[in-house]
Amino acid sequence: MAYDTKFIFITGGVLSSLGKGLASAAIGALLESRGLSVTLQKLDPYINVDPGTMNPFQHGEVFVTDDGAETDLDLGHYERFTNAKLDQGNNFTTGKIYHSVITKERRGEYLGGTVQVIPHITDEIKRCIKVVANGIDIVIVEIGGTIGDIESLPFLEAIRQFRADVGKENVLYIHLTLVPFIATAGEVKTKPTQHSVKELRSIGIQPDILLCRTDRYLSKDIKSKISLFCNVSEDAVITAKDVDCIYEVPLVFNKEGLDNKIVEILHIWTRAPRLEAWEALVEKLKKPECSVTIAIVGKYTDLKESYKSLNEALYHGGFASNCKVNLMFVDSKNILAENVGQILSDADGILVPGGFGSRGIEGKILTAKYARENKVPYFGICLGMQVAVIEFARNIAGLPDAHSSEFDETTPHPVIYLMNEWYDNKTQTVQKRDETSDKGGTMRLGAYPCHIKKKTFAHEAYKNEDISERHRHRYEFNNAFKDQLEEKGLVISGASPGGELVEITEIKDHPWFLGCQFHPEFKSRPMDPHPLFRGFIKASLNQKKSG
Ligand code: GLN
Repeated sequence: MAYDTKFIFITGGVLSSLGKGLASAAIGALLESRGLSVTLQKLDPYINVDPGTMNPFQHGEVFVTDDGAETDLDLGHYERFTNAKLDQGNNFTTGKIYHSVITKERRGEYLGGTVQVIPHITDEIKRCIKVVANGIDIVIVEIGGTIGDIESLPFLEAIRQFRADVGKENVLYIHLTLVPFIATAGEVKTKPTQHSVKELRSIGIQPDILLCRTDRYLSKDIKSKISLFCNVSEDAVITAKDVDCIYEVPLVFNKEGLDNKIVEILHIWTRAPRLEAWEALVEKLKKPECSVTIAIVGKYTDLKESYKSLNEALYHGGFASNCKVNLMFVDSKNILAENVGQILSDADGILVPGGFGSRGIEGKILTAKYARENKVPYFGICLGMQVAVIEFARNIAGLPDAHSSEFDETTPHPVIYLMNEWYDNKTQTVQKRDETSDKGGTMRLGAYPCHIKKKTFAHEAYKNEDISERHRHRYEFNNAFKDQLEEKGLVISGASPGGELVEITEIKDHPWFLGCQFHPEFKSRPMDPHPLFRGFIKASLNQKKSG
């Protein structure tokens, strides 16, 4: 079978957190800038079927695609750096692979054969890689984990076989390693890289390109040493130098000759890369004209990875106003009526992000109250919208016991509740859920249409009446309280086209106060900041200037 598509496999060595996801995304951006179509895929070695049920403290953010797949956060990098359209086919885990092999086995599809890691699991992995290749010039596949982990072995074996299956000229292996500077020796050390490559070669993979993560440019001597010991040509030893801002990575790689080397090895003829837009972006964000401080009042504030897309979307909102965004993470469990003003006094804008579980919920409600009363721009995302509605019901609409039934099942005023039955426009089916439903399967997930009311903050931001945004939540605004809350001044500025599902709420006589049931942060791009984040940052900036 002849292959039009070329495949790049990216593995990581030495230790985790070297930025394999970012490197993959940046390579995607560079290849797109040469006029190639790319897609990216992440293969994760853990047993969870998807990251949807994983704790953000351990795993970081769960990224959501339009089709409602709950995926690894690296897919967020891929979408922010490239135009690739990602869906559930772009993220596979060991759990998902085994699940489909075991399902086939139960159906008797192996005709009595013994089902084994090689060839059945590896064949399934290879099948999943090919799923995304249709009509695409380059598929970039990132293998999660670090070389040497037991869990990633089947994936490595599958990608080893892949080159023989689709032809040598169609496959490229890139290995990301660490070249640390050791202060006491006064030099960078290549030994960890040598060992990592040795380990990779012991399972049959000879990397074609090494991306060496380091804090300084590698000298010619060091590159030639790595080249000799790792059997990689010298011009394929690329310095992946630390950068101040992630959006510089494509430019740094390009300067090191990475995209040239990739197209040379894969025998692709392309135009020269067009990186003007990236250069302009980096130039601009290095010289901000002003700064603004945004408080993120949430739960997972210790691990920045938990709010990856959110942080980036806030920075993007800043790019639109030539403004540096300083993030101030506040754990909502520390917020009390007595100290809320003091804790949030430095914030020019306040954001309450999505979340699950009751810890710190009262602190979030107090935060919404503080923002409303003190006219500080407020942006509530998902749970952040829900707490703003609860706050409004309690303090403006005279329903002091108002709550979400997620946190208080017996509240007489469940302004946020579990909608047991609703018509799902997307699947065109009636959806049912209750307290006993599976945690994995009952969320409203992925893209849903929303209709926007004119003369609202939302309309001012989107400049459009029909939008689509991504969701990941179980609870909804309770329409039984709609009239009562609207009468008191709550503005429902966005709802599903039939009006059944409330999507955006606002309050009037405020510089900017908006809550949305969806997660706009998943769709923000550095070159195309999300309208709500633009609007929120602009309002926060005005607040700072006037305050
Ligand atoms: N816990 C809330 C719900 O399930 C909010 C979820 C979220 O913020 N993503 O509806």
